Amino acid sequence: MTLKGKEQKYFFNTYKRLEIEISKGDGCYLFTRDGRKILDMFAGLAVNVLGYNHPKINSSIKEQLEKYIHVSNYFLQEPQINLAEKILKMSGFSKIFFCNSGTEATESAIKLIRKYFNSKHKTELISFTGAFHGRTTGALALTAKKKYKQQFEPLIQGVKILEFNSVEQLEKNVNENTAAIFIECVQGEGGVNIATQEFVETIKHLSKKHECLIIADEIQSGVGRTGKLHAYEHYDFSPDIVLLAKGIGGGLPLGAMLGSEKVKDVFVNGEHGSTFGGNPVSCAAGLVVFNEIENGLMENVIEQSRNLKMKLLKIKSEYSSKIKDVRIKGLMAGIELFENGETLVNQMLEENVLVNCTNENVIRLLPPLNISCAEIEIFVEKFRKVFKN
Ligand SMILES: *Cc1c(COP(=O)(O)O)cnc(C)c1O
Repeated sequence: MTLKGKEQKYFFNTYKRLEIEISKGDGCYLFTRDGRKILDMFAGLAVNVLGYNHPKINSSIKEQLEKYIHVSNYFLQEPQINLAEKILKMSGFSKIFFCNSGTEATESAIKLIRKYFNSKHKTELISFTGAFHGRTTGALALTAKKKYKQQFEPLIQGVKILEFNSVEQLEKNVNENTAAIFIECVQGEGGVNIATQEFVETIKHLSKKHECLIIADEIQSGVGRTGKLHAYEHYDFSPDIVLLAKGIGGGLPLGAMLGSEKVKDVFVNGEHGSTFGGNPVSCAAGLVVFNEIENGLMENVIEQSRNLKMKLLKIKSEYSSKIKDVRIKGLMAGIELFENGETLVNQMLEENVLVNCTNENVIRLLPPLNISCAEIEIFVEKFRKVFKN
């Protein structure tokens, strides 16, 4: 039986797989079993921030796996502590909790919020249209898309989903019952939607007035993706909690929740935890990522972003009947089409370039952060070619 046949026989039907079989990855490229070399412009969904087969990631993994790959959180583990110290120093936050994924980071925040406001009966959580915060039932309640959640109700109660970038809706709905506001300053799954300055200002103002917490979901937009460590740094504010995952483990499963001084003492021993949370091999790989960020990786993000933006805007002006909008922050780009993007994804794949389509008609690019100018050029050339046809 083919791999595809076996997959369909054995797996729950949760993923729509691409029609290619990967044999290896190197840098920004994937190599298929039938000998194709494919430029990967979405990097394992924003996970492989340093691309594939990165020598420093590989050697730090090897070094750690020869020591121990798991000992449980009964033990002090140097790789966890090193990564915690690095992230807190770079971000200015006070505390960290390690988990394994984005949705677990969101759940951790929901629990923290619940306990923080336990005595005050503040229970309402706010998120926005286009938001994606994960697939477990708490995180799913905060996720906007009906398709993801409708069949799984009842989810946790007391979630209000307001229109993204609507100051008016914020003013109408944030009040003394609001416990927390979850925001992706640059929405990923929702179609690379960028929060306006005014919107973020209003959240800042209302959270102060009504004493609610602000949770920045940086699971996709963090780890240097937008040209700053976190996307919220493009705005003048600092959230109470930051959620991280995807790129944080350099390709291995890892998630984290960062907390400010305000929330640093919420949990006591045993109230929260995870068997695998903060796996030492993942943390060792993650440390390489943050070292690279400290050593100039984001300069490349800024430079290639400028380069990519200029070229995408040019293509948009050439094909204005096909491209509705181009939105880009660092190396997180969304090209909104007038029609469904599935065909374009397939056409690009025929040209040996992997792009992603989200929210039906938005082509999403999340390339490795160390992508070169020449690789951007290859993408642009193929992208233009596909529009021309
Ligand atoms: C991917 C993503 C999540 C969920 O992360 P998982 O690791 O898939 O659970 C949550 N929030 C945002 C913004 C994401 O992009």
